[in-house]
Amino acid sequence: YLDFRYVKANLSKMRENVKNRNSSADPDAVARLYDDWVRALEELESVRADRNANARAMKGKLDPEKRSELVDQGKALKARLAVLEAEVEILEDALQREGQKLPNLSHPEAPVGGEDAARVLKTIGTPCDPGFKVKDHLAVGIALDLIDFETGATVSGAKFVYLRRAAALLELALCNYAMQKVASKGFMPMTTPDLVRESVLVKCGFQPRGENTQVYSIRDTSLCLTGTAEVPLAAVYMDQIIPEEQLPIRLAAFGHCFRTEAGSAGSASRGLYRVHQFSKVEMFVLSTPEQSEAMLQELCDIEEEIFTELGLHFQMLDMPTGDLGAPAYRKIDVEAWMPGLQRYGEVSSASNCTDYQARRLNIRYRVSVHRPAMPDDERKGASKKPHKLPTEFLHTLNATACAVPRLIVAILENCQLEDGSVAIPEVLRPYMGGMERIQVP
Ligand code: AMP
Repeated sequence: YLDFRYVKANLSKMRENVKNRNSSADPDAVARLYDDWVRALEELESVRADRNANARAMKGKLDPEKRSELVDQGKALKARLAVLEAEVEILEDALQREGQKLPNLSHPEAPVGGEDAARVLKTIGTPCDPGFKVKDHLAVGIALDLIDFETGATVSGAKFVYLRRAAALLELALCNYAMQKVASKGFMPMTTPDLVRESVLVKCGFQPRGENTQVYSIRDTSLCLTGTAEVPLAAVYMDQIIPEEQLPIRLAAFGHCFRTEAGSAGSASRGLYRVHQFSKVEMFVLSTPEQSEAMLQELCDIEEEIFTELGLHFQMLDMPTGDLGAPAYRKIDVEAWMPGLQRYGEVSSASNCTDYQARRLNIRYRVSVHRPAMPDDERKGASKKPHKLPTEFLHTLNATACAVPRLIVAILENCQLEDGSVAIPEVLRPYMGGMERIQVP
């Protein structure tokens, strides 16, 4: 379902995009393979037509010499057909493989460059100044008996954690609060499988294999552990056509995230900041192309409401091309002030993936009868039957409502009191039996 004709017609734009996004994809190879595939396909069709003509010619009354000539011709055509069929299959395979590597296009306003090129769109609040030296989350967590990496290391390995006492309640409170919040905004709350097929993961734009994969896979099965509930949510409508009237569809899921975190090290990996398993509430939207920019804004507004209600100081950033990954067309990150690190740290991320995932997952919408068909509907896969309304690939978006560990980091560091206890944000208290403070047990 990839639009190879678009790649061919926009080669210089594709080359620049791949360079800006630091991607190893090769649009020229895609264009070349597409040409070879089309040529082989045309030859295949032409040989098929010759063979049909040959078969038809054999039906009449023929003298033996003519029949023998036609039989020889038929045999040669059959052999050529087999060669061409194999060639088309090999070329199609290579074309799909190269095509899948291409990243999405980038929003014209996305800053070009690496991580440092991120543009601050908005700053909310100011860094807290409690008037005493704030301890980092790990020191507070250990003092209050909330965080246990030792048992995690013994039972599962480094970077697996046991949360204890109020921290365990805090994890569930954050998830409950976030689920209620997004449900109140019209998102259908769901719980989703934490294991998905490798093929689904690939269609969502993730790489299950390879040196730097972030994905854990289950040996002797086709299953992988999800790194985000975005994957099972994106696949809910796989291979389906949705009436335009039903869009946008808003879904949200609580799920566990499993990440190998290959290649991550340094102070930003300390304690809960980067772990192999964590809980997250994720929002997911399916929309028309016309709706997706407004939907990205809606997702950012919900994130802003959540982090404001949690009492955090944070900024929202337009992420640069080098940090978009493969599926995102535009990505807005939220970074909260982390006193322990004395800098901002990413706590959530919202992406508009336009039709990148929908093409791979084959999710279309049936264009409303009220809308005139676009001139290029057919190119995008519209039905050729006149009585049927055209279909188009829709747009998908995803955004974090609450990724637990970094929010616990932010709460333990930003809500610390001088006596060593931690004030629980008011919005979470109803989910913690009214608990107001985390104190030394
Ligand atoms: P992502 O799905 O990669 O956009 O991540 C969503 C959010 O999950 C990030 O903004 C972080 O807050 C959080 N996160 C990502 N990776 C980790 C990790 N290894 N450990 C803890 N939190 C993480």
